[in-house]
Amino acid sequence: MNSLIQLRHSLHQHPEIALEETETAKRILDFFKPLQADQTLEKLGGTGLAFVFQGKKPGKRLLFRCELDALPIADLKESKHQSQVPGKGHLCGHDGHMAIICGLGEKLSQKRPVSGEVVLLFQPAEETGEGAQAILNDSRFEEIRPDYAFALHNLPGFPLHQVVLRKGTFAAGSTGMRLHFTGKTSHSAHPDAGINPAQALAQLMQQLPQLPKEIPGFSLLTLIHAELGTLAFGTSAGKGSLSMTLRAFDQEDLDLLIEKAQALAQKIVNQERLKLEVEFVEKFAVSHNDPELYSLVKTAAEKLALSTVDKPEPFTWSEDFGLFSQHCPSFLFGLGAGEKHPQLHEGTYDFPDELIETGVGMFLGILGKLS
Ligand SMILES: [Zn+2]
Ligand SMILES: [Zn+2]
Repeated sequence: MNSLIQLRHSLHQHPEIALEETETAKRILDFFKPLQADQTLEKLGGTGLAFVFQGKKPGKRLLFRCELDALPIADLKESKHQSQVPGKGHLCGHDGHMAIICGLGEKLSQKRPVSGEVVLLFQPAEETGEGAQAILNDSRFEEIRPDYAFALHNLPGFPLHQVVLRKGTFAAGSTGMRLHFTGKTSHSAHPDAGINPAQALAQLMQQLPQLPKEIPGFSLLTLIHAELGTLAFGTSAGKGSLSMTLRAFDQEDLDLLIEKAQALAQKIVNQERLKLEVEFVEKFAVSHNDPELYSLVKTAAEKLALSTVDKPEPFTWSEDFGLFSQHCPSFLFGLGAGEKHPQLHEGTYDFPDELIETGVGMFLGILGKLS
């Protein structure tokens, strides 16, 4: 286990953000060399990696996924393994998730699955929601297309080692949406001669956050950025933009909210004689947990004598693992990182090393039941 902690610390010292994870991928590749996987896929969806361990008999293909990317946030926790890259840090614990999947690789190297095969996937760019999509878009994904997929995320705010479960939606789906308005500049002494997006912006800033009231399930529209014209006092603004994050627990609700937001923007833009361009960024699908896999994961936790908790409501944050749940039965669960532990993405957050062994044990328990 010590080698896994060492690996986790060296990953922590050398964080790389979304789509730049080449050195991280190299470190993982080096770790797996002596483990002699039956198949290795490199540069999957960019910087991703997959290692395949085959069982003796034919059977189901299980996929266990972790994330390669760190965050563009400074690591403020002083430790021997503090980040050596200014302004970047593993503040979501993806270094720990990687160590867990590496530990699973060690176990599979010693003892292949009884049947079927196991794919260990190191996915790029989770934080921007691009990585899972990039893996699915890679033509080689067909070679590892799973029958079942699993992932875990550490969760500060829950007791250390507690397994957090939920049937159905585990984490919300979300998308960033940017509205770009084009009007016409004019002299600020003659604003009537131009087309200023200010009124449209003001109306939309008030009306868009009200839209979730028209959606049947939970949803939220949060304004995150607004822009109007340039700082030129002689000029009436001719362009503007408004950016927001939309989220919901159900994919249909999210799609409906997006539709309504676009329709409202179009209506107001037409009234104001502006031109509208809509852009979507950082799209995350709803993470849906297959109810049939629930008892399997719960049993794995109980066998390790770990406490479990059923979360009554889904998490309002998003995970791009949700995209896998649209392709095969999947299950994403949480591992408590300590009730008082700094939250994910906070500067002083650091993955608890004690969770590595727990994570490996959980995945081994799951795979023992299915292979
Ligand atoms: Zn994160
Ligand atoms: Zn994360």
